[in-house]
Amino acid sequence: MNDTVRGLILRQTDYKEADVILQVLTKEYGMIAFRASGIRRMTSKNAGSVFPYTEADLSFDYKDGRTIFRLKTARTANLYRRMHTDMEMTAAAALVSEIAEQLTPHDDISHASQAYDLLKRAYELINEGAHIHTCTTLFIADMMRLNGITPQVDACLGCGRGDIAAFSAKEGGFLCRDCAAALGIMPQQTVDLKRIRLLVRATLARYELVIASTQAQLSDAVLLVEMIRTHTGTQVRSFRFYETAVQ
Ligand SMILES: [Zn+2]
Repeated sequence: MNDTVRGLILRQTDYKEADVILQVLTKEYGMIAFRASGIRRMTSKNAGSVFPYTEADLSFDYKDGRTIFRLKTARTANLYRRMHTDMEMTAAAALVSEIAEQLTPHDDISHASQAYDLLKRAYELINEGAHIHTCTTLFIADMMRLNGITPQVDACLGCGRGDIAAFSAKEGGFLCRDCAAALGIMPQQTVDLKRIRLLVRATLARYELVIASTQAQLSDAVLLVEMIRTHTGTQVRSFRFYETAVQ
């Protein structure tokens, strides 16, 4: 049998002498892995078609119950060329790809399908030169929602008051002045809190609308990534490169 699936390649890891393992997000099967043989040999015909942060058509034999398959052929569907030649864009691609891999629920194919559309949109926007912090922050907020860890940005988490004074990644959202003080958390600027609320409530699908009124800052991404680290145990290793690469 010969199955073909379109997938977003999130990660490529060297395996044995000349093979690689690809982590791939698909709509049909969720998150799956492929072992691509001989990719690191000069003669490999698939080598040019399995780059991370691309969309590709991959052929293989599907078997129920398996999560890793031997790759037969690969053909790039979308290369996102510019994203691969610019360091800031590549850092953003690495970050959104890692978060997609870590936060896509494995037990729900409709969630995988939503994550796929989100990640594809993120690649497109980054590749088109959209504002990077805004793309990544909106994408992260969307993925947190999909994962059931949306920050609480309506009122104080502690007492429900509406006059908020700080965002706590550890607590998972907004706090009023009193509740923040009780936890030893410094108050933040209202303008920063309003921007975070807007970004968390928005979605990447409305990027154009969001960018018309605000631009995310690195500090917004820092808070959301900190919250992911605290609440899921995911390391988000690519964020270190992102923080230094993207101005
Ligand atoms: Zn409170």
